Amino acid sequence: MTQNIPAHGSNVARKDINDLYKWKIDDLYATLDAWQAAAEDFQNALKDFAALQGKLNTKAGLLEALQKQSALSEEISKIYAYARLQLDTDNADPQFQALSGRAESLLAEFNNAVSFVEPEILALPHDFIQGFIDEADFAEFKFYLSNLLRLAPHVLPQEQEALLSQASLAASAPAAIFRSLVSADMQFPPITDGDGNPATVSEGNYLLNMTSPDRTLRQNSFRTLMSTYHNYRNTLANTLTGQCRVSRFYATAHKYNNTLEASLAEDNIPTELYHGLIKTVHDNLQPLHEYMALKKSALGFDELHPYDIYMPLSTAGESFACTFDEACARVTEALAPLGSDYIDTLKHAFASRWIDIYENKGKRSGAYSWGIYGVHPYVLLNYQPRYNSISTIAHEMGHAMHSYLANKEQTYVNSDYSIFCAEVASTTNEILLLEHTLAHATDEQKIYLINQFLEAVRTTVYRQVQFAEFELFTHGEIDAGRSLQAETLENYWLESNKTYYGPALTVDKELASEWSRIPHFYTPFYVYKYATGYSAATSFAASILCGKPGAVDKYLGFLKAGGSDYSLNILKNAGVDLTTPQPVAVTLQKFAEKVKELKALLKK
Ligand SMILES: [Zn+2]
Repeated sequence: MTQNIPAHGSNVARKDINDLYKWKIDDLYATLDAWQAAAEDFQNALKDFAALQGKLNTKAGLLEALQKQSALSEEISKIYAYARLQLDTDNADPQFQALSGRAESLLAEFNNAVSFVEPEILALPHDFIQGFIDEADFAEFKFYLSNLLRLAPHVLPQEQEALLSQASLAASAPAAIFRSLVSADMQFPPITDGDGNPATVSEGNYLLNMTSPDRTLRQNSFRTLMSTYHNYRNTLANTLTGQCRVSRFYATAHKYNNTLEASLAEDNIPTELYHGLIKTVHDNLQPLHEYMALKKSALGFDELHPYDIYMPLSTAGESFACTFDEACARVTEALAPLGSDYIDTLKHAFASRWIDIYENKGKRSGAYSWGIYGVHPYVLLNYQPRYNSISTIAHEMGHAMHSYLANKEQTYVNSDYSIFCAEVASTTNEILLLEHTLAHATDEQKIYLINQFLEAVRTTVYRQVQFAEFELFTHGEIDAGRSLQAETLENYWLESNKTYYGPALTVDKELASEWSRIPHFYTPFYVYKYATGYSAATSFAASILCGKPGAVDKYLGFLKAGGSDYSLNILKNAGVDLTTPQPVAVTLQKFAEKVKELKALLKK
């Protein structure tokens, strides 16, 4: 905590932060003029691309269109990133705003210019494409084309697709109404904290209030937030009914049996995987029940309520405080099992300004990694001296290394990994850091770290699967021709919480309204990916740490594969087969072990 931390924070102007701590934007384009020139060339190339329309019905015409589309896509990604990365570092900067405006409109022009390609390919006879898909010239487009052909039976003739897309704006109403109700119109009454002082609760601070040691504040936040949602129960049951009906309409229009099938088809995931995931979690609810019982006794409460669950059992997170350089050194040590090539690149990333480290005025909050093909990933952080921030470095560098290796090994078209796989590399790194830190921690720090892990599994696996199961219920009601009644959903939700959390939790009646505040239910059958991603990561980390022969190479193979195949195949080739219960079961067994460890530590 010395002189090598620059002044930073929400009041420090970006220009006052030393360039050493900022990412090197010049790696994308050496100067603003170079970017302007690239943007101009790009616009001209888009005009030329239009001439290819109607010419995809020959082998040469198709190949040319695919190659040019790929090159244009690569270029616009760079042009766009140059503007948006800078805007994220200072949202108030008028020059960055102008660049971003230009980049947004170029991106829209690109999407418009290439929009004829896929419909034109899909209108071609499939055996025409099958005739040359295995030829060397088409090698880099083989996966892209076969995926397109896989989905072809679900694409309607152009006129019908056009009609459906005309309806899409109206069809987005349920989600739009939900968003405007909960984020604009809904008013949460003022509350008080444990000292009787005025306090507030909103979606913006709810989770923060839930982690407060002040139990009155937690209880008041919970009751006020939930009962405000309760006041809108019929409206929210109707927006959800509307969303489920819209999804079912598009699913059946595209010749799927139901929304589940249509949603999973995008990633080529069999519906059995979804049902299997829920079953495996149900078979392993006992450890969650034990965790709740442990939490109840550790907190010394007669009753454990939903507003007590998020409360941490230790505040030792700050005891890991260190400078950014020290944090990078810890992450590097923790990731050493991934081998010297991985570590060398990681060190290179730290030394070569891939990262924008500290907070400044106008900078976007949170953290992300943005992989850019042909350049290198850029990582945005807002580093603070505490454990979570060190873990964020491990997490974001996981994404960055995934992008870096995939971009290095794959052609542009095959480089981008799917959302299904996206959180695997980042979470694997988080777990490696946690295990490494645990091995060198004091008992108090161990309580903190294990609690972090248990909360991650509870919220990413158990809770998301609980949501996934709820979606099966809601969409099932719609499939059966029924509408969703607030009372039915409330009763379902209370029962579901009893099943998941077990006898140690007192399920307050206010909890019945929780289903109505989950925005993800407006993106059907999405949340299960959090649970599969986390489980895949836990499996990888377990194999790597126990020194299973070949585990590291297989894991690196997963990173290098990018988006060159279906997600399930890529993971399976790397040793994680999500079509079996194993990865999820391994994760929940590890959860059970950590509950026991925590129990022993708390007894000391
Ligand atoms: Zn992430």
